[in-house]
Amino acid sequence: MKKTVAIDGPAGAGKSTIAKLVAEKLGYIYIDTGAMYRAVAWKVLDTGAGTTDEAIIRTAEKLHVSLRFVGDNVRVFADDTDVTEKIRTPEVTALVSQVAQLGPVREKMVELQRGMAKDGGVVMDGRDIASNVLPNADVKIFLTASIEERALRRWKEMKAKGYEEPIENLAAEIEARDKADSERAISPLVRVPEATLLDTTGMTIDEVVAKVMELCG
Ligand code: C5P
Repeated sequence: MKKTVAIDGPAGAGKSTIAKLVAEKLGYIYIDTGAMYRAVAWKVLDTGAGTTDEAIIRTAEKLHVSLRFVGDNVRVFADDTDVTEKIRTPEVTALVSQVAQLGPVREKMVELQRGMAKDGGVVMDGRDIASNVLPNADVKIFLTASIEERALRRWKEMKAKGYEEPIENLAAEIEARDKADSERAISPLVRVPEATLLDTTGMTIDEVVAKVMELCG
């Protein structure tokens, strides 16, 4: 039977790296829900219509976000623009939590996410997957790591893309985003009691993947 696997956790915990590898091993589809909120934030910046809540909601209403397979890779589209790389900039990262706290934006994204998961065979990562998007998921995992390790991982990732950001700034950005995501009124980042807590501090990617595979049984 094809399962649904929900992986939640704070920023920089390695959710997307792990979820992608686990999906590959299981032959499942990987759904990066953070990328969908990032696509909305990208569009808001691209249209230049301003970043008031009203302007963001108007932009989101008109936008079609989709995840499409191009070869073996999942690409993120905002309407017909491939934004897979564009959504990883510091500007998008700085805006995304504001975008993601808005009810109308979340309703639209959650509907799409549930549609993509309806036949099972998905590994979905985000903040509210186990608690809200897929409360009946077969496997629920809360992935985390120390703030030092998460900042270091993000620093390496950004450096590989040509961004030289001091690690303290990245740690501060991660903490601010976690605070916003945990304290928002609608579907905040939480660990549901039934989710397995997996602290990946000091673990290699292979070790984490092996552990998650074990939990997927
Ligand atoms: O996972 P990633 O760091 O790319 O997510 C970007 C942002 O999108 C998060 O900081 C959060 O504000 C939002 N998000 C969310 N719910 C999800 C996934 C992401 O609110 N399920």
